[in-house]
Amino acid sequence: MGKSKQTGNHKSDKKKNISKTWKTKRRTKDLDQIHCDMRPDTAAKLLHQDLDYDVTGCAQHYCLHCARYFVDMKALKDHFKSKVHKKRLKQLREEPYSQAEAERAAGMGSYVAPRAVEVKTQPLDEDMD
Ligand SMILES: [Zn+2]
Repeated sequence: MGKSKQTGNHKSDKKKNISKTWKTKRRTKDLDQIHCDMRPDTAAKLLHQDLDYDVTGCAQHYCLHCARYFVDMKALKDHFKSKVHKKRLKQLREEPYSQAEAERAAGMGSYVAPRAVEVKTQPLDEDMD
């Protein structure tokens, strides 16, 4: 015995390798964490980080919505055009689930449907090239 060889779970063919989905090393942030990051002050900090040589691209090219670093401006721009990024923006349009929402749904207070959030790709500092 050793590592699990299970590659699927019958229900979804999207999860090709379940061991990969549960690995924590490459795990990116959860959507609600990203919603916190999207607050202007936090976002500014994340987008203008100090040089960090341990991080891809010295932490200079960060996609806020995917919580990922890229090697250079070109890679970041290519990423903005990619499917994963657009999908992520779509996911982020919905407000994160909150305790307040749970209470409203449970009949405490009036229910207000989660409001759609306008999510745009972060502006780029073109002079960073
Ligand atoms: Zn992205």
